[in-house]
Amino acid sequence: MAIILDGKETARKVREGLKTEVLELRKSGIVPRLAVIMVGDDNASKIYVRNKSKACDEVGIEFEEHLLSEKTTMKELLGLIDELNNDKKINGILLQSPIPSNLDINEAFRRISPEKDVDGFNPVNVGKLVLAQNTFISCTPFGIIKILEEYNIPIEGKNAVVIGRSNIVGKPMLQCLLNKNATVTICHSKTKNLKEITKKADILVSAIGRPKFVTKDMVKEGAVVIDVGINRNSEGKVCGDVDFETVKDIASSITPVPGGVGPMTVAMLMNNVVKATKQQN
Ligand code: NAD
Repeated sequence: MAIILDGKETARKVREGLKTEVLELRKSGIVPRLAVIMVGDDNASKIYVRNKSKACDEVGIEFEEHLLSEKTTMKELLGLIDELNNDKKINGILLQSPIPSNLDINEAFRRISPEKDVDGFNPVNVGKLVLAQNTFISCTPFGIIKILEEYNIPIEGKNAVVIGRSNIVGKPMLQCLLNKNATVTICHSKTKNLKEITKKADILVSAIGRPKFVTKDMVKEGAVVIDVGINRNSEGKVCGDVDFETVKDIASSITPVPGGVGPMTVAMLMNNVVKATKQQN
């Protein structure tokens, strides 16, 4: 039976540490502030934004939400980003995805000042991650590295396989693992013989978005399995990409869903806001 990598508890510890840092900042009159932009009416996004707001409250970060209608134009969105970029009280800016498809999310990410880009999606920060320079690492891969470190799971020299190549999870995950000296393979929907590749993974990260996609026969005995997926099963319950019940018997450790990667993502966002605040002061 695998060790369950407790993201909820690890995230709580991260927030606890940040709380102390924020108290120190506040003593010198500096109050970290995060602005979140949401465009349209996506139900999952609302839950994610609520979780981020709750975490801000706990850590002592001020939170402001900018809700834009579905009909918002690119000009209006960029106008708001400019305003927030120029507002000295704002330390971090996050644009919640998805946004309506008529808007160009990449252009919006480019517009967020790299100094306030706490999600790490501005190409300047993505480039710095590739070059292994100091940057804002995007929160989900950063949270995964943090939980591996918390459980003293070695990364260097390991075979790591990432399934999924999205800009927000798969690609930065590849880079984070590479920066920690893993040998990394990235797989996607066009990958042939996926199982042969995943079977070789010492560390297997799944970020696809399909329930029970990763089955026991795809996993090497003793592998560390990280489940990024947030899906709904046929009963409407939240589940990951991994068939947890069977894979946990073969893995050495595994993240649950919920309570694994999700809380870590939010905690690392808090970390990035505090870091941005310090850098700006
Ligand atoms: P995405 O839809 O942008 O990308 C999915 C990726 O999976 C693509 O690169 C695609 O090539 C790959 N893929 C799809 N089918 C495949 C197949 N049959 N074989 C191999 N690869 C396949 O998704 P995303 O935004 O990266 O999110 C992935 C999942 O992670 C979703 O469930 C999402 O909700 C979740 N997510 C969780 C967190 C968190 O904090 N836990 C954060 C972001 C995303």
